[in-house]
Amino acid sequence: MAFILPGILSLIQHFETLRKSPESYRPKSCPGCCHASVWCHGCYTRKPDRKDLGEPCLNPVPIMRFFCPECRSTCSVLPECIPPRSWYLWEVRQAIFLLLLAGESISFTFAFNGSRASRTTIKRWWQSFNSCFQIFSLQLLPHFPCLGRLSGFTKFWTACLALRPLSSAMCLLHEEGVLVP
Ligand SMILES: [Zn+2]
Repeated sequence: MAFILPGILSLIQHFETLRKSPESYRPKSCPGCCHASVWCHGCYTRKPDRKDLGEPCLNPVPIMRFFCPECRSTCSVLPECIPPRSWYLWEVRQAIFLLLLAGESISFTFAFNGSRASRTTIKRWWQSFNSCFQIFSLQLLPHFPCLGRLSGFTKFWTACLALRPLSSAMCLLHEEGVLVP
């Protein structure tokens, strides 16, 4: 079971936080039985750094794990910048969505988004982002009432991503119990 620590918007910030205040990742109480204090339970690693910009690669990235002595369950806590179910950081998908929202083609987006995401992956992300619009927008509206007057997928997401990064919107959805990709 994965939880997300909001406000950690980059891998560099994640490494800094792990070094300076690893306690910020510890859930206040067990998310399973809802009352016991959880213990640190080591780390596992992920490889979400798939940018292609000639910058040093930050993989492997440690993700903290916690254990509840009461119900004997474990949970891990992701920084906001890492999606629960993807190899790529949210910032990669955001760059791609911004190009597509601006009306660029899949081919142009594939060539110029600055990541190694394949054309098929880009298409799949875009299709699922479109097909989830109803549920995503319904859940996000209470957080961004000003978006209520905008109708349609393109206007909604263009305005939403001008207010907050994609990772923050997805973090809010995750907290609402919506399955985010
Ligand atoms: Zn528990």
